[in-house]
Amino acid sequence: MSKLTTKELEKKIKMWIPYSQAPQAFNMSPYTGKPFDCTCGKTHIYNNLTSPPFVDGGMYKMGLMVKECKHLSAVKVRGFFNTDKMELLFGCKFEEKKKRFGFTLEYPKFDEEIKIWIAERWEL
Ligand SMILES: [Zn+2]
Repeated sequence: MSKLTTKELEKKIKMWIPYSQAPQAFNMSPYTGKPFDCTCGKTHIYNNLTSPPFVDGGMYKMGLMVKECKHLSAVKVRGFFNTDKMELLFGCKFEEKKKRFGFTLEYPKFDEEIKIWIAERWEL
């Protein structure tokens, strides 16, 4: 796993669906309490308030917004083997201060999606 820039991350997830727009968004609630390795180097515990999903990649791939360390981490929720941890795929530092958080695409606008979840989850 390599730590990406926001632009590199955006390129990798450009075909993924913003979570609020996913017609059948993957339900992450059953995974509450499940550990995942994060782009920051730590292992966090999944919780939809502190690491809400913002993008659904299908095939159990989800992009999480990790409040504690301010990183965006794409994980594979379930692989072929029922391991305890979710697998980290790739991620980047969340560039909170940058214009549009460093995202550039007109569609999908991941920054708009992230704003929704900051307001609904991170700011609780
Ligand atoms: Zn982290």
